[in-house]
Amino acid sequence: MAPFPGSGLAKGLAVTLRTMTRKTVTEQYPDVQPDLPPRTRGVIGLFEENCTVCMLCARECPDWCIYIDSHKETVPAAAPGGRERSRNVLDRFAIDFSLCMYCGICIEVCPFDALFWSPEFEYAETDIRDLTHERDKLRDWMWTVPAPPALDPAAEEPKEIAAARKTAEKLAAAQAEATPEPARSPKPAQSPEPAQEPPPAPSAESTPPAPPAPKPAPKPQEGDA
Ligand code: SF4
Ligand code: SF4
Repeated sequence: MAPFPGSGLAKGLAVTLRTMTRKTVTEQYPDVQPDLPPRTRGVIGLFEENCTVCMLCARECPDWCIYIDSHKETVPAAAPGGRERSRNVLDRFAIDFSLCMYCGICIEVCPFDALFWSPEFEYAETDIRDLTHERDKLRDWMWTVPAPPALDPAAEEPKEIAAARKTAEKLAAAQAEATPEPARSPKPAQSPEPAQEPPPAPSAESTPPAPPAPKPAPKPQEGDA
């Protein structure tokens, strides 16, 4: 049966009307930043204080896109008669994000918690060679790593946090012992007793009467001599 003339137009308008009334899902990026899930795999942040240059991440990376350089340093003995030790010092840590496939293996295998996912994603470059990011940039991204989710209140305290807390408590106790007790603060000056009120001025009524004047001695008589 031949379609009713104008039915196509009516269908098209119906689709337009339906779409107009739906909630929009378009993100107005870059004017509005997207609300990303906290565990988004954007870039890899490096916490270089934790890195011991063990090279495990570089060896396990399937794309061979982690570049690490280091040198050895001799650490003097901690106590007299002790042995000198040597340690690796990081010179370069770079990741080529034009090769990285965001598999996360490097983060998983790092035994010292030196690598973390950051949700940062605005690192586009106009030249592919600029996508190799060095340790300074990786360290800046470290500060965009979200904090781990809160522990279950009934969960055991993590070992490293418990150790850090005990050390902090010992230090605080040692400092408290070393600090002399503050001098006792002088007692607040007591306010003087209120001055006793002077006795009320004697009124005319309460004044004792003056003693009576002595009587004049009787005059001697002429016949008495
Ligand atoms: S995420 Fe995967 S590909 Fe990218 S650097 Fe790590 S191990 Fe290599
Ligand atoms: S695995 Fe971790 S500690 Fe070892 S080199 Fe890589 S980032 Fe550093």
